[in-house]
Amino acid sequence: MPKKIAVITSGGDVPGLNACLRAIVHTATHEHCEVLGVEHGYDGLIAGEFSVLTLASVRDIVRRGGTVLRSARSNAFMTPAGRAQAAANLKAQNISHMVVVGGDGSLRGAAIFGREHDLTIVGVPKTIDNDVSHTDTCIGYDTATNTAMDAIDRIRDTADSHERIYVIEVMGRDSGYIAFAAGLAGAADGILIPETTTDWASLTRVLKERHRGHKGSLLVVVAEGDESGGAINVTQHLAAEFPDEKIGICVLGHIQRGGAPTAADRLLAARFGVAAVMRLRETIDSAMVGLQGNALAFTPLGDIQRKHLELNAERKQLLQMLL
Ligand code: ADP
Repeated sequence: MPKKIAVITSGGDVPGLNACLRAIVHTATHEHCEVLGVEHGYDGLIAGEFSVLTLASVRDIVRRGGTVLRSARSNAFMTPAGRAQAAANLKAQNISHMVVVGGDGSLRGAAIFGREHDLTIVGVPKTIDNDVSHTDTCIGYDTATNTAMDAIDRIRDTADSHERIYVIEVMGRDSGYIAFAAGLAGAADGILIPETTTDWASLTRVLKERHRGHKGSLLVVVAEGDESGGAINVTQHLAAEFPDEKIGICVLGHIQRGGAPTAADRLLAARFGVAAVMRLRETIDSAMVGLQGNALAFTPLGDIQRKHLELNAERKQLLQMLL
């Protein structure tokens, strides 16, 4: 086991990062290893912003969203010179082992960094969009999905009371995971995701049938990265089809990022955090810890890519039966 490791949170914040930091510090302390927290993501690594994390530093953070280390996106880390400075700062601290908690971008950067400077890096996947390859799920996705579902439920109350149509935009620049999961869980009438091209004729036919049938509410959930262009464009499209209806729009935006992590995210963060530190004890090969089935699995860090929601037969059937 190395005597000292560094940990960093990089990219967009998600709920569960603090739970992961807590697990990392507890595990390292158990293994008699010191943990240096890197503040402000890769920019902080380049600037040498280190602080010692102890059990006291991570007390009572498990339930807080965001990251106590702060996070950032860093243009400087995209350059070899920036990464060389970051490596020099780690070397000055006698550190050659690091845990990077990040999305696919941060993990791709970590793979390059580790290769260039002979560092052992364990990646931990976090993203509300769930778009990291080689893992079924990522820290933050469950909480964001629950937040979106809760918002859909609340909008449904108003939509039902006023027999109104609502278009709700959820996060997902490249992947439809949140829209798919929160839309199904919230019994949406339409779900538009980047992985499919919207069949407008079929969508409006279904919506019109339902509208005539019960004249209740209709909710359409759209991922921000859908090819339709998002909630405003979808609303314009539907307004032409339902000229007598007032159509509500709700863009959920950043409320999906924050808040207390769910139990599922805290436990996932704990499993990933413990496994990441234990991995550093066992091998010098850089890898990402992920969840495949319900088992932890390591994948070489260089293999990590962005992932899309695969519309397999079961998912197609769910959409067919429930929409
Ligand atoms: P996320 O990790 O949440 O996907 P980004 O894609 O914005 O977020 O990546 C976060 C940071 O990771 C970037 O600001 C950059 O510093 C670093 N990064 C991303 N891709 C690379 C890359 N190909 N090479 C080096 N660094 C990268």
